[in-house]
Amino acid sequence: MPQLPGLIKGLGVTAKTAGRTLFPKRGWKTLIPAPQIGAVTVQYPHEKEAPPERARGVIALHEENCTACMLCSRSCPDWCIYIEGHKVKAPPRREGGKPRTVNMLDRFDIDYALCMYCGICVDVCPFDALFWTPEYEYSEPRIADLLHDKDRLGEWMETVPDFLDYEAGSEQKVRKVPR
Ligand code: SF4
Ligand code: SF4
Repeated sequence: MPQLPGLIKGLGVTAKTAGRTLFPKRGWKTLIPAPQIGAVTVQYPHEKEAPPERARGVIALHEENCTACMLCSRSCPDWCIYIEGHKVKAPPRREGGKPRTVNMLDRFDIDYALCMYCGICVDVCPFDALFWTPEYEYSEPRIADLLHDKDRLGEWMETVPDFLDYEAGSEQKVRKVPR
């Protein structure tokens, strides 16, 4: 087998040339991952990362906009929104008009022990009453305390970031966060 060393040498040259052609800077060494120095895990809570502004941290409720229409509750795949309300008579919108019947919100709870952060409730609300905020520090030792009532959900409103402008040329009106 006198040709074998020559054949191996030839294959070696071909591989080297292929490496230089495919990865001009470092050849085949490009495919070897660089060694990591130390742990890359963020050591929460000693170290905190700032989540992106539009992160889905927690849902805030603007109670004044909620009509207790139940759409969010009926759309929630986890059935973790609990709403109760009652009807009251309200004065007519215009002079001489009929008195109106409006819904008053008695209870609006979200159980974050069940919520899967899909955002369907925020998307379906026709009255701009629900908003995402990037806040995430609301863990509890007792799972039952992950049920946020309407007062707690309302407190999150001040952490809701303003909506960003749409890209240039868009005719869509930018939504405003009720403050
Ligand atoms: S984010 Fe999804 S799972 Fe959570 S309350 Fe809203 S609809 Fe339900
Ligand atoms: S939050 Fe929106 S969708 Fe849910 S009950 Fe209130 S108005 Fe209806």
